[in-house]
Amino acid sequence: MFGTNGIRGVANQYLDCELALKVGKAIAKVLGPGPIAIAMDTRVSSDMIRSAVSAGLMSMGVDVHNLGMVPTPAIQYYVKTHDVSGGVMITASHNPPEFNGIKCISADGTECSHEEESAIEDAYEEELQTVSWERIGKETSIDGAGEAYVDAIVSKVDTDLIRRSNIKVVLDCANGASVHTSPLLLEKLGVQAVVLNGVADGMFPGHYSEPVEENLSELKEEVVKVGAQLGFAHDGDADRCVFVSETGRYLPGDVGLALLSILCMETASGKKEVVSTVALSNMVEDAINDAGGTLARTAVGSPIVARRMMEDGAPIGGEDNGGIIFADHQYCRDGGLAAARMIEFVARYGSVQEHVDALPKYTTIKSAAFCPDDKKSYLVETMARNHSSERIDRTDGLKISFSDGWVLLRPSGTEPKFRIYSESKDPEVARSRSEQFVREVADILG
Ligand code: MG
Repeated sequence: MFGTNGIRGVANQYLDCELALKVGKAIAKVLGPGPIAIAMDTRVSSDMIRSAVSAGLMSMGVDVHNLGMVPTPAIQYYVKTHDVSGGVMITASHNPPEFNGIKCISADGTECSHEEESAIEDAYEEELQTVSWERIGKETSIDGAGEAYVDAIVSKVDTDLIRRSNIKVVLDCANGASVHTSPLLLEKLGVQAVVLNGVADGMFPGHYSEPVEENLSELKEEVVKVGAQLGFAHDGDADRCVFVSETGRYLPGDVGLALLSILCMETASGKKEVVSTVALSNMVEDAINDAGGTLARTAVGSPIVARRMMEDGAPIGGEDNGGIIFADHQYCRDGGLAAARMIEFVARYGSVQEHVDALPKYTTIKSAAFCPDDKKSYLVETMARNHSSERIDRTDGLKISFSDGWVLLRPSGTEPKFRIYSESKDPEVARSRSEQFVREVADILG
């Protein structure tokens, strides 16, 4: 049931009330019996799914703290700082409006581990015994979880410096879960803000909630039009944040991670290490090295990155999709703090575009090749054998490093295909190597 980001599906099709109710019971068995916090994004179906999950939780004797509509990192912060046994976020993040999802949060505020998710799946299959009528749980509405989250972010950045700098930004909330918290954050930081798509609306009338360049043309134009120093946009549940420079250029997630890592290497005390995945561009690694830090790489997945950050004592980590984790706040992707830290970057260093222009240049080609599920491990083994003279890394799929670049082959967890990433400083090398590996996959599979 659980994919990389919880349970997802089209509302009233796969993800209907009956499923949500049963999942609520299963969550109660695994994360209960203490109280569970619940929150949701702005989707049309979110009230319905939240009510059903709540009913399932209460039927098992679990009390529910209903935080209402807040970003995912806000409920994670609530769970981390309150005496509750876990949390449930009703969201499908960046998916189209017809989708919704159920995401589970451990007692420490981090995303549930695969073990916890498997336990919930097992409990879902059981005939669970509900409690007798006098022990049914209660639901309490909690106000102010969003503002408490915002206040915690404000306490983590240099607010005096930001206030003195008279910064102007454009924010695109995508009609999602950040519509209250992110404008409030900017107000508390004394930042002048133009807000786009700032009304909660589950039909997403502005644009789809995936913060990719094709959805953010209005943001890019507005930044230039109003003369802002920065633009930023969240996905539907605001655990991610991507940026637009003062010249209206969209900055992909890896560029945002590079700039925030530079800031962190220069301002954070303690270990100068950034954690990301084997799929991250060497552009970011070079930028971190230039700032006096090192990069540790893990398998793909933000909970894996977060765990490694804890083990290593690294102050920052993240992936190239705008999901950035800051150890001094919480071990989960945090779109609000990412935005606040980038505003601090502007206050400290000025032009974002100048810093982007100074970053090393790499070309990364992302392609895919068909591979039946039952041939995936055979393909990895054969490919590893064929390239045994190169440097091989098996952290996630197969990464082959050459003197002038690398190739990563990752089996898709949900589809019969391999993702193939090819990177080099030389665009021609990146491209031809990508084509070469697509061909090699086809040859191996006959
Ligand atoms: Mg998200």
